[in-house]
Amino acid sequence: MDMEFTAEDLAFRDEVRAFIAENYPQELRGKQDEGDELGKEDFLAWHRILHKKGWVAPAWPVEYGGTGWSPTQRYIWSEETARADCIRLMPFGLSMVGPVIYTFGTPEQKAKFLPRILSGEDWWCQGYSEPGSGSDLASLRTKAVRDGDDYIVNGQKTWTTMAQHADWGFFLVRTDSDAKQQEGISFLLVDMKTPGITVRPIITLGGEHEVNEVWLEDVRVPVENRVYEENKGWTCAKFLLAHERTGIAGVAASKRGIERIKDIARSEQDGDRPLLANPFFKRKVAELQTDLTALEFTELRSLAGEAAGRGPGPESSLLKIKGSEIQQRITELALEAVGHYGAPYFRGFGEGDNEHPIGPDYAHRTAPSYFNMRKTTIYGGSNEIQHNIIAKMVLGL
Ligand SMILES: Cc1cc2nc3c(=O)[nH]c(=O)nc-3n(C[C@H](O)[C@H](O)[C@H](O)COP(=O)(O)OP(=O)(O)OC[C@H]3O[C@@H](n4cnc5c(N)ncnc54)[C@H](O)[C@@H]3O)c2cc1C
Repeated sequence: MDMEFTAEDLAFRDEVRAFIAENYPQELRGKQDEGDELGKEDFLAWHRILHKKGWVAPAWPVEYGGTGWSPTQRYIWSEETARADCIRLMPFGLSMVGPVIYTFGTPEQKAKFLPRILSGEDWWCQGYSEPGSGSDLASLRTKAVRDGDDYIVNGQKTWTTMAQHADWGFFLVRTDSDAKQQEGISFLLVDMKTPGITVRPIITLGGEHEVNEVWLEDVRVPVENRVYEENKGWTCAKFLLAHERTGIAGVAASKRGIERIKDIARSEQDGDRPLLANPFFKRKVAELQTDLTALEFTELRSLAGEAAGRGPGPESSLLKIKGSEIQQRITELALEAVGHYGAPYFRGFGEGDNEHPIGPDYAHRTAPSYFNMRKTTIYGGSNEIQHNIIAKMVLGL
């Protein structure tokens, strides 16, 4: 694996840096600095700018709207966007259902959905998990029964991220109850405005409305919205999960997170010295940084594999485990660094609160973000399940 950037790569890095500096929305930057909760329009603002530039889906094949960047250029892109603290684009269309559609979809599905994912016109959500079917996803019970040119869908999904904004959802449904579990599942694209769909909020520990329950009662979904063959949806589901797990490593964002901790620890005092000069604290930062560097090299090896034509496989589970653990440790150390200034925000100050902010600005999001990041070892397939995958598929145990 060649670790040196070429002159072309460095020129590309400068181009990306300049583009972000000139085009990243100032209003969004302001909200991020204030620690405000971001809404749909905030995410779409940056999405639309990147779409206009042709840079919204670097990983897609060029024929469907990708950039044609090399894996190194994609790496530079994620480094630079994290370095500049750009928000992460919503993954459900771009990183999840988009690749499923261009890989398994019909020409009509590709023509209908892909351009709207790129432009941001359609906001997508992921309807996989159900109460009782999370880790054991193949046991899902939401049922789709064929009725002429439609399926009639009944059931309940849960933890559906950002479904409150969604125009479309991709759902795993059972189309054959007699077959072996994995062999009776289909992959449906569902218009979230269809009668019979109810989205109910679940408020998380940090006080955010990020996840939902989705109820489906006699929801009619045209058969033409099924991706791939009936009862073969598990193939699409697995393909999508491997893509989901690679993105989850979040190396570039974690680098930025560690820099932020250092900034906090330079400002916070520990007796008569900055917290960053405390050897115990410094050691924790160094351990984090070392683990992140090891993860970065693992990700680079995975990218080199991709460049050689090997797609993300079961080793993406390793990226997910280490990446999510590091993300959590970063929020733990940040909370430790702000100390008692984090406490007033344990339940988050929400819209309408009339309390004056307490402590320095950087303290405001520390506790909510600590609570929010507990999710990373659960979603995308819990870390225990990833350990099982590594044991079976990578180590052959
Ligand atoms: C914030 C958040 C957002 C999410 N967003 C979405 C979304 O948009 N769409 C969606 O479909 N889903 C989403 N999920 C759901 C997520 O994928 C599931 O929560 C996850 O797969 C775990 O399933 P579960 O919650 O049912 O836990 P369970 O499967 O009940 O697991 C409970 C515990 O048992 C452990 N466990 C279970 N089976 C085994 C085993 N065989 N070996 C060892 N340990 C095991 C698990 O690791 C876990 O610790 C989201 C979850 C969260 C927290």
